[in-house]
Amino acid sequence: MANEAGVYSYSTVQMGSPVLLKLFENNAALARQVFRLIAQQENLFTVNRVQSEVMAINHAAGERPVAVSPAVFNLIQVAYTVSTLPDSAFNFAIGPIVKRWKIGFQGDSVPAAADITALLPLTNPHQVVLDAAAQSVYLPQRGMEIDLGAIAKGYIADRVQQWLRQQGVTQALINLGGNVQTLGAPPHEPQGWQIGLKKPFADDNALLGVIEVREKSVVTSGIYERYFEQQGRCWHHIFDPRTGYPLDNELLSVTVISDRSLDGDIYTTLLYGMGTEQGLNWLASQSDIDAIFVTRDRQIVCSSPRHYRFRPADTTWKLHY
Ligand code: ADP
Ligand code: MG
Ligand code: MG
Repeated sequence: MANEAGVYSYSTVQMGSPVLLKLFENNAALARQVFRLIAQQENLFTVNRVQSEVMAINHAAGERPVAVSPAVFNLIQVAYTVSTLPDSAFNFAIGPIVKRWKIGFQGDSVPAAADITALLPLTNPHQVVLDAAAQSVYLPQRGMEIDLGAIAKGYIADRVQQWLRQQGVTQALINLGGNVQTLGAPPHEPQGWQIGLKKPFADDNALLGVIEVREKSVVTSGIYERYFEQQGRCWHHIFDPRTGYPLDNELLSVTVISDRSLDGDIYTTLLYGMGTEQGLNWLASQSDIDAIFVTRDRQIVCSSPRHYRFRPADTTWKLHY
């Protein structure tokens, strides 16, 4: 805990990422409860441990449906819907590919092309069977695996926001390693929360700029978050469901500003797949979602800023609106 001008920051490591909670009261007990809530939720959704509700579904692949708790069923239902949209870059059945690449974990390496070809038929999201009456999920082929890694943090960030609100908290920020969710705005700061946009691959925490929001979620998904280098290339952790290889386009990161962090998570992945141009066109038809694209040729492309303001910090990157 650190105290600067009435700000109380509490930090820990959860879901493989640093977690930061900012409050405007000295309340370590509240912070402990937030971290406990995150741990409980992580225990339901993780696929990085042997046991969780999602892992129970995966272990029973090709054998039987598994009944899960309402939170897990509901999130899987959302994941199914997004995954089965036409041309969706999002696929919650991508587990076999994620496990094979092991990006960010011990033993990550570029798999043989034949391995990937063999795994792709196990990643068809349309095959997942959801039974609302039984609250069960069935993976019909042995070897199929659900992975909610792209949306679990967003869902949990929203749960934390809702829980804090129930406790009467009106101003707070939670950062779950890339997913920032906020309540209100900090006292005495009319511009709102100041959320740094990281400079890709910088090793000194340098920023491209600062995103200012009030009571919004800010989610960034970037190829520099988890990756390894091999064959002179950077292999990152956001996969193209069509190929089984990391998505390869002009983007280094996508940031989404939205009310719900779950939406931020969904749309960072979808926009990643669309790319900058198609993404901007799509955003023009959405009134609740804003986004910032950062490209390999050092451009920062902002959608029309309805719910945020961007203050650049590095003028060697070209800024577009
Ligand atoms: P993080 O916040 O951990 O950096 P992201 O929100 O960017 O993660 O999501 C990446 C994670 O989502 C991967 O680690 C993997 O578990 C999962 N994933 C990777 N590619 C896809 C995809 N195309 N659709 C859905 N989930 C994916
Ligand atoms: Mg995500
Ligand atoms: Mg994320």
